[in-house]
Amino acid sequence: MNNCFIILAAGKSNRFLSKTPKPFIQYNGDILIKHSINKAILSRKFSKIVIAINKNHRKYIKKLKLNKVRFVNGGKTRADSARNCLNYIKKYKPKNVFIHDAARPNFSLNLIFKLLKALKLNDGSIPVIQSIDTLKLKNNKKIHNLDRKKIFFSQTPQAFKYKVLMELQNKINKETTDDSSLLIAANKKIKLIKGEEKNHKITTLKDLMENKVFYGIGFDVHRLVPGKKMYLGGIKIKSKLGTLGHSDGDPILHAITDAILGACRMGDIGEKFSDKSRKYKDIRSTILLEKVMKEIKLKNFDINNIDINVITETPKLKKLKKKIILSISKLCKIKKDKINLKGKTTEKLGVIGKEKAIACEVIASIQKKYD
Ligand code: ZN
Repeated sequence: MNNCFIILAAGKSNRFLSKTPKPFIQYNGDILIKHSINKAILSRKFSKIVIAINKNHRKYIKKLKLNKVRFVNGGKTRADSARNCLNYIKKYKPKNVFIHDAARPNFSLNLIFKLLKALKLNDGSIPVIQSIDTLKLKNNKKIHNLDRKKIFFSQTPQAFKYKVLMELQNKINKETTDDSSLLIAANKKIKLIKGEEKNHKITTLKDLMENKVFYGIGFDVHRLVPGKKMYLGGIKIKSKLGTLGHSDGDPILHAITDAILGACRMGDIGEKFSDKSRKYKDIRSTILLEKVMKEIKLKNFDINNIDINVITETPKLKKLKKKIILSISKLCKIKKDKINLKGKTTEKLGVIGKEKAIACEVIASIQKKYD
């Protein structure tokens, strides 16, 4: 087994507006580039893994703590980076070499096996997927219809006989966006393998959105007593009974705050605003929630939706629903249709049934835009 796996991660990722360079962002529970590295290791088909990196990104590499992997400074272009890696691995005399873009973390191990198998009888093997769109070609002013059955989008990893690719890389000094282009231009034997839908390229921050959803749960209960004010969801409610609490005793906002903190993995409301602290005596819960909202915004979290159960015999929620939802939508800066509020009773059972307490439970879904 003398195969090398090259990962290209030296790009400037201009289309990617994040402080962290693209290969090093968090993606599906790990650093983006590590998904590819781990798969190369897991496949047990490679004796060496070499990564082309941007030399300005060294500090991120150190954090990865990888000892099985070699790093090579990338070049100005993708082709330069590939060439640097191919030259670097020359000393290992590899038989086959895979070249892969770090921005494609979702390929399967099976794809590696299929590419390697196809390489036995070919100079290169590459994964491709067929176009689902109808394609047009504009040549000067003339527009042509293209037969989409004959159009393929190439993916990576791409597999090559090392000698063949190396020779072409040295001979042809031109920028290519994938390595198979060299073999195709030189009429070498290439096998097209069925690629994978999920093996798409992470190009923009939007591509990361779907993988960044978190859920949090919140619960709160307050005693109901006469002669106290009642706040629900940030608004004052007319009621014969009010809530007892260190703050204004708003069970809905407390449960929402806890659900949000939970989803963002930032502890709980009691830790943040202690009921032992005089600072928070009689404080409005709207202020506490607004503080939490500011904090989560700084961490690039966005609320997807909030679902609320208020469990109480009094007051009746039906008539208050609209007002409460509007208030929460303003506090959380989300649209009203992202909030759902349900009024529940306990059928006169227990302390809630006897109008001694009011409880609230909330589930919040939160999305992290980027790190
Ligand atoms: Zn509370």
